[in-house]
Amino acid sequence: MDVTLVRAKEWQAVCPKCEKIAASHESDMRCPNCNSTAGLYIPVLGGGQHWQSEQAESSWHQIKCDKDCGWYSTQLDCPSCGSTIQGKFLEDLRKCFVATTCFGDSQHPIVKAFRRYRDQYIANSVYGAEFINWYYRKGPAYAELIEHRPVAKWCIRQVLKLALLFLPKELRTDR
Ligand SMILES: [Zn+2]
Ligand SMILES: [Zn+2]
Repeated sequence: MDVTLVRAKEWQAVCPKCEKIAASHESDMRCPNCNSTAGLYIPVLGGGQHWQSEQAESSWHQIKCDKDCGWYSTQLDCPSCGSTIQGKFLEDLRKCFVATTCFGDSQHPIVKAFRRYRDQYIANSVYGAEFINWYYRKGPAYAELIEHRPVAKWCIRQVLKLALLFLPKELRTDR
């Protein structure tokens, strides 16, 4: 997947312990290396779409120097209580929730085939990127919905197995 990082316009990091806003786009963070401003950077998907601010809040990628001097951080300390606020890595954002739930394993060959399809085909079109954004908002809820419904899981497994036959051949098997 073609991913670059761009500065998020609106975001805030809320401390999980004291629930105060530890930092936001309005706070003037400084790079400890070169003293330039630093901000939250989020991944831009292939189709030119990027994560919306409400997603950025819960899935921020990294705090980075605006001047690109090489400094970045994936965590920050809460100024109120000193707790560490851990950012999520891109890898966390890339799960195939529904397929993973159905096959019970994110490394299952069929889950991996669909992940490759998403990265190489879906993510490279504007509508595809839009779909992925939608999916990352709704996916976890759908995955939870079917979590304890073995029959639903079985049905989706059969549909995915069938759909697999329509994927480009080179994506179907591990290389
Ligand atoms: Zn810097
Ligand atoms: Zn705190």
